[in-house]
Amino acid sequence: MGRLWKRELWRLVALVAIGGLLGWPFALTSYGVIVGLALCLAHHMRQLHALYDWLAHRPQQEPPASSGLWGELFDRLYRYQKGQRTTQRRLRATLQRIQESSEAMRDSVVMLDRHGDLEWWNSAAERMLGLKPALDRGQHITNLLRDPRFVSYFASRDYRDPLTLTSPIDEQMVLQFQITLYGDDERLLMARDITRLHRLEQMRRDFVANVSHELRTPLTVLTGYLETYADMASLLPERLGRGIDQMQTQTLRMQNLVNDLLLLSRLETDQGGEDDVRIEPATLLAGVQRDAEALSAGDHQIEIEIDDSRAVLGNEKELHSAISNLAFNAVRYAGPGSHIRLRWRACQGGACLEVEDDGEGIDARHLPRLTERFYRVDKGRSTATGGTGLGLAIVKHVLLRHNAQLDISSQLGQGATFRCVFPHDRLIAAADDSRRRQA
Ligand code: ADP
Repeated sequence: MGRLWKRELWRLVALVAIGGLLGWPFALTSYGVIVGLALCLAHHMRQLHALYDWLAHRPQQEPPASSGLWGELFDRLYRYQKGQRTTQRRLRATLQRIQESSEAMRDSVVMLDRHGDLEWWNSAAERMLGLKPALDRGQHITNLLRDPRFVSYFASRDYRDPLTLTSPIDEQMVLQFQITLYGDDERLLMARDITRLHRLEQMRRDFVANVSHELRTPLTVLTGYLETYADMASLLPERLGRGIDQMQTQTLRMQNLVNDLLLLSRLETDQGGEDDVRIEPATLLAGVQRDAEALSAGDHQIEIEIDDSRAVLGNEKELHSAISNLAFNAVRYAGPGSHIRLRWRACQGGACLEVEDDGEGIDARHLPRLTERFYRVDKGRSTATGGTGLGLAIVKHVLLRHNAQLDISSQLGQGATFRCVFPHDRLIAAADDSRRRQA
């Protein structure tokens, strides 16, 4: 027991004893004890009143003067209060500093609660997203950013990739949205103004498209003349004939390059989706098999395997071009005598169109970069096979437009599998179709 407690108990015992002793000569011992207890109670009531008065009316000031256990209690409460106030002040200052720095940021910062309602935002968010402090606090974010792409991005809870959209208040402003989940399911929404970057990217695309387009006519003229000269090869000296052969090969390469660049710019710029039709994978793969066999000239065994009855909703020309690119690559890189399998089957996430070969395969370190433009594993070999270096970039873009994904798996010496994964909403079940035909 503490020293102060003991003293307090002794005080009580002493008061009661003195009261009892004073009452004893008059045979009023119990009255004396009661008076002693009453005095003790009065003392405690007075201190209690002082405590209440202090906390209720002037808690910021020094505590009332007191001694003993009550004095210690007042002191401890005072110190605790003072500590709390200092912590509060420090927290408030930190919060203010965070708000000030977010306020100074050029990017929009919006804090959302666990329901997606607006809690706080900086002035950049007012400028970029049109949020109004007086009206919008507590509103759900999708009431203010209503673009369906944002609504589904917000609901998806998969925020690994940012979302690019125009500002809801200025069509000219391009914003990149990124959401971060934190705390108790709360979200932090950031929006960056990427208008300048977007314009530069647009300029780059236009430039590539224009240059490719402008190169087409001179190339056609060159090819025309070269064909004429090739027809007259017997009249020309042998050395010139060889030169014309090489010029023809190189102009053909340039033409392929220009065509692939134009196709890529078109895939990048227009949204797509207008010419989507039902595509039977069996028919698509049969066409690709025919073209690949023509390129292979009997050097490869090319088979088709259909393990799923569903069809795909997509652009026939684009998908044909993508799957042909994969099959032609297999013919060119797998080497003579290898087997190539074109397969349609159900797989995780939907259904897959696969092009599999048992050729040399690709070293794992190249796989992440394979779909980059002009990325080649073996530059000399790719040029010799007549590739433009844009084949897989085209495949990737075609698949992006079909909400599909390209998965590449390969090991050196063990062949390669290029898998195009189509999501469920791109698949049409056979039963659906018969129902539609009946209707
Ligand atoms: P390219 O026009 O050079 O074929 P692609 O973009 O189509 O360009 O392919 C990029 C590179 O990927 C190729 O240069 C080749 O090295 C490699 N590659 C593609 N398909 C295969 C395959 N089936 N087997 C081995 N390597 C391949």
